[in-house]
Amino acid sequence: MAQDVIDQTAWRPQTRLVRGGTNRSSFEETSEALFMTSGYVYGSAEEAEAAFKGENNHFVYSRFANPTVQMFESRLALLEAAALCKATATGMAAVFGALACHLRSGDRLVASRALFGSCLHVCTEILPGFGITTELVDGRDLNAWRRALSQPTAAVFLETPSNPMLEIVDLEAVAAMAHDAGARVVVDNVFASPILQKPLALGADVVVYSATKHIDGQGRALGGAVLTNDAEWVETKLVPFLRHTGPALSPFNAWLLLKGLETLDLRMERHCRNARTLAERLGQRNDLDRVLYPALASHPQHELAMRQMREGGSIVTLELAGGRDAAFKFLNALTLIDISNNLGDAKSLATHPATTTHQRLTLEQRAELGISDGTVRLSIGLEDVDDLTDDIEHALSVAG
Ligand SMILES: *Cc1c(COP(=O)(O)O)cnc(C)c1O
Repeated sequence: MAQDVIDQTAWRPQTRLVRGGTNRSSFEETSEALFMTSGYVYGSAEEAEAAFKGENNHFVYSRFANPTVQMFESRLALLEAAALCKATATGMAAVFGALACHLRSGDRLVASRALFGSCLHVCTEILPGFGITTELVDGRDLNAWRRALSQPTAAVFLETPSNPMLEIVDLEAVAAMAHDAGARVVVDNVFASPILQKPLALGADVVVYSATKHIDGQGRALGGAVLTNDAEWVETKLVPFLRHTGPALSPFNAWLLLKGLETLDLRMERHCRNARTLAERLGQRNDLDRVLYPALASHPQHELAMRQMREGGSIVTLELAGGRDAAFKFLNALTLIDISNNLGDAKSLATHPATTTHQRLTLEQRAELGISDGTVRLSIGLEDVDDLTDDIEHALSVAG
C-alpha cells in the first residue's frame, strides 16, 4: 500500500521514525531516494506557469523544496507531532530564521542567559543591530521571567536543558507568562532531542533543532529544523524568509538525517542509559566537586526536569576540584573518549567549556552560568559503559 494514503499519525513513535514521510519514486525503492538535484523540468510552459503560481505540487527549485529534504521534514514533523517542519542548513540557520522572520525593528526579545554560544551572539549582538532589544534572564528563576515579561514582548527564546550546566527552564510556566505578554515562544530543544521532550505539548509555539547533534547522531552532517503548528506563521513569515534568504538544507545531508531518524529512539535510549550509569558511578566519588545530570536526584532541578523530560539525556557535566590544571590533565589522560566540542555523537566526547565553547564569555558571565575552570562537559555516546567508566576513572586518577 502506498504510504502516503495511510494516516501516519496513527502510527506509534518508533514506526513514524522508520517509515514516516517516505515518498517512493516510480522505481519503488525500499530505502528513501537521494534527489541530488537543484532544479526540476516541466512538461510544458503551462505546467511551469502553474508550478510558479503554486497551482500544482511540482517542485520548482531546491532552495524552496526538494523531495529528499521534504521526506526528512515530514518524518521529523511526525515525530514531534507538529503540523509543519522546515529544514535548514544548520541549527543556527534554524534559530536565526525562527527569530529573524518574526522580529521587527523596535520589538523586544526576552531570552534565557544560558544559551549555546552562537545563539547568545545572535540575541545580544546580531538582532540588536537590527533594532531589536534583547533582555536576558536567569532561566531557572520564574520571578525573573515574570519581571521581564511584564512589558509587551514579541518573542521568548530559551534552551532547556542548557549547555553545559544543564539548567532547566519550566516550559509550561514560562510559555503561559510569555503568551500573556504577547510573545511567541521559541525553544531550542537540542539537548533533550525530540525523543525526550516535546515543547509544543507544553505550550511552546516553535521548536528549533540542530539536527547536527542527536538527529544525525554520527558526527557526519550539519542540519537544522524549525517546527510549529502555526500554519499561518509558516506561510507568511517563516517560508518567505527561508525561501528568499537561502539557508536550504543540502539533499545529501537531508538523506543522512532522514536515515539518522530511523535509529534516533534506539540511540537515545542507550545514550541515556550510559549517561545515567556513569553519572551514578561518578556521583559516588569524593574527588569530584559536582556531577550534574538531570535524571539524578542530586540535580538542583531534578523534579522539574523529570516533569518535562522523559529521561536525562546524553550530557553529564563534571566539576573537578583542581580547576583548569586538573581539567586539562583529565582531558589529556583520556584514551577512549575524544576531546571535541561536538555532542550527541555515537562516540563519547569531552570538552572544557571555559577555554573552548564558552571562551568568549567574560569571567563574570561564566561565573553567572556556574562554569568554572574545573568544569568538564561529557557527551556520552554508545560505547560499552564499562569501557567509558574505566577511561574516566583512569583519567581522574591522573588528574589527581
Ligand atoms: C549545536 C547547537 C546549536 C547550533 O547548531 P549547528 O548545527 O551547529 O548550527 C544550537 N543550539 C544548541 C543547543 C546546540 O547544541
